[in-house]
Amino acid sequence: MSLISHTSAGCCKCGSKADVTVYRSINTADDPQLKEKVKDGSLFVWQCPECGQANLAKYETLYHDPDAKLMIWLTPSGDLPESEMKAVTNHAKAMGDYTLRRVGDISSLMEKLLIFDAGLDDVVIEMCKYVTRVEMAAKAGEDKATQILNLPMHFFRKGTQGDTDYITLSFPDNGKMVGCNIGFNVYEDCLGILQRNPSIKVEEGFAKVDGAWLTSLLG
Ligand SMILES: [Zn+2]
Repeated sequence: MSLISHTSAGCCKCGSKADVTVYRSINTADDPQLKEKVKDGSLFVWQCPECGQANLAKYETLYHDPDAKLMIWLTPSGDLPESEMKAVTNHAKAMGDYTLRRVGDISSLMEKLLIFDAGLDDVVIEMCKYVTRVEMAAKAGEDKATQILNLPMHFFRKGTQGDTDYITLSFPDNGKMVGCNIGFNVYEDCLGILQRNPSIKVEEGFAKVDGAWLTSLLG
């Protein structure tokens, strides 16, 4: 069951107050139409009835896809009540082998869904981003290296050209988003690296798997 409530939000353009629908939890088995709306972000967009401005509603929600055995907790404020998190973790454990993730913003939630929908592993994808950044930084030279190593990258899609698979990562470049294709062999290599490094392990419960997390483990 998806839980809905309402909240009063202010328009970022004209300041008018509006009554906004908020999903406290999302269950894609009960409400399959919500999945696409989360994936394209439209679930979190509300239009101002006064001026028409599209606003983003930032709120905490628990995304649950029982078919994929996946739960993602979106917590824009960063903090989760420990007891609630434990209870949901135990509940998920009782239902089988669940993937539990925590994200801090809507675009990260969208990215996780794209990764899992493509049948890929998000830890391996973070590793792919890491090696891609290192390679780009080495090519760009010393003065730009630090900036490139901190470049925010997102998984965009897995595609096929001829008989080879590739992965497109997107990142901002001079104010616009650009894509960079890496061969699927990079993904396979990264999977191998992770299998040889058991210290890079996802913590139990609602784990945060992102670039900062991976960098902290790689030292
Ligand atoms: Zn407005």
